Amino acid sequence: MYGKIKDHLTRELAEIKEAGLYKEERIIVSPQNAEIRIETGESVLNFCANNYLGLSANPELIKAAKEALDTHGYGMSSVRFICGTQDIHKKLERKVADFFGTEDTILYAACFDANGGVFEPLFTADDAIISDALNHASIIDGVRLCKAQRYRYKNADMADLEEKLKEAQSQRFRIIVTDGVFSMDGNTPPMDKIVELAEKYDALVMVDECHSAGVVGKTGRGVTELFDIRGKVDIITGTLGKAFGGAIGGFTTGKKEIIEMLRQRSRPYLFSNSLLPSVVNAGIRMFDIMSTTTELQDKLHRNTDYFMARMKEIGFDIKPTQSAICAVMLYDAKLSQDFARRLLDEGIYVIGFYYPVVPKGEARIRVQLSAAHETEHLDKAISAFTKVGKELGVLE
Ligand SMILES: *Cc1c(COP(=O)(O)O)cnc(C)c1O
Repeated sequence: MYGKIKDHLTRELAEIKEAGLYKEERIIVSPQNAEIRIETGESVLNFCANNYLGLSANPELIKAAKEALDTHGYGMSSVRFICGTQDIHKKLERKVADFFGTEDTILYAACFDANGGVFEPLFTADDAIISDALNHASIIDGVRLCKAQRYRYKNADMADLEEKLKEAQSQRFRIIVTDGVFSMDGNTPPMDKIVELAEKYDALVMVDECHSAGVVGKTGRGVTELFDIRGKVDIITGTLGKAFGGAIGGFTTGKKEIIEMLRQRSRPYLFSNSLLPSVVNAGIRMFDIMSTTTELQDKLHRNTDYFMARMKEIGFDIKPTQSAICAVMLYDAKLSQDFARRLLDEGIYVIGFYYPVVPKGEARIRVQLSAAHETEHLDKAISAFTKVGKELGVLE
């Protein structure tokens, strides 16, 4: 019976390859860091990880993870509400809430699950979810799992959001949902305006802080810090898989009753395994570091400012950003792939993105800065960009 679908899959896979959309995996044989070793034995500088604070190979987090293996074991073999909750799970949930200035937190195996499980327990067909067009796939899937009316507004477009809020006035509850930082441009939505509109049109606000937590705002508290709206966002989702150590794990943090209801009804929480103790303990250590020093955030901000300023001076077309994501615009899809390949020859690992990941004719290289980068790393990347830019006719 497999033969029929096998032929079908083989054909589809060939089509994906022909369209140039086939995703290959590059094999890394070292820990995740500013400098990584790839399978060929070469070392390259990594500018495409979400390792914003450089914590992925942090010795203190590794130590905390190892300690928890001895004190709390390896796995939980249970969901949270049966026998998968340890003291450290509760402690980490408290740390997340303290960090964001929220009331309570619920942990998930990933932010994909946090977003997948946040809408359906709270909203019914009587309600409205008003979602930014560029929101992450996990938000889109979460919304699909819920019967609420869906409204989509143009990316960070407040006039369009207001239109949708007006259209949704007859629904019982309304919630505006947005990413804190959009991963392809690195832009943030105008959160202060979103909160104003939410007040005017009686809506809740939810922000997914995956690319913004640890990164934006002076102390890395995310967009609620950047826009000075702490306490005015009802639901925040985020990941431990990016700036916060890069391992795995997600969370939803916010109003007490909302979190309480998620513990009762959120399906990825009720029907999926509890986070492993080593990751939980390293997470606690990470928030302890965050609450005692802003050294890493400061370094990340310095690195981002330095890199952006130099690249603009040299003549690259850089999208304005408020995050640690720097989109170097090349517009042409093939050029973006050739450029990335040549940069890898020069020891710089970046990814070129093109349609359908970004709009047609807006191909680019996305550079992700990190506190793990030293100035010499940045300078090496900048000279490689300059060299390849001249070679491929992007710079004069
Ligand atoms: C990465 C990301 C997620 C998924 O987070 P995981 O913890 O890796 O599942 C969700 N939302 C946004 C905006 C992201 O960037």
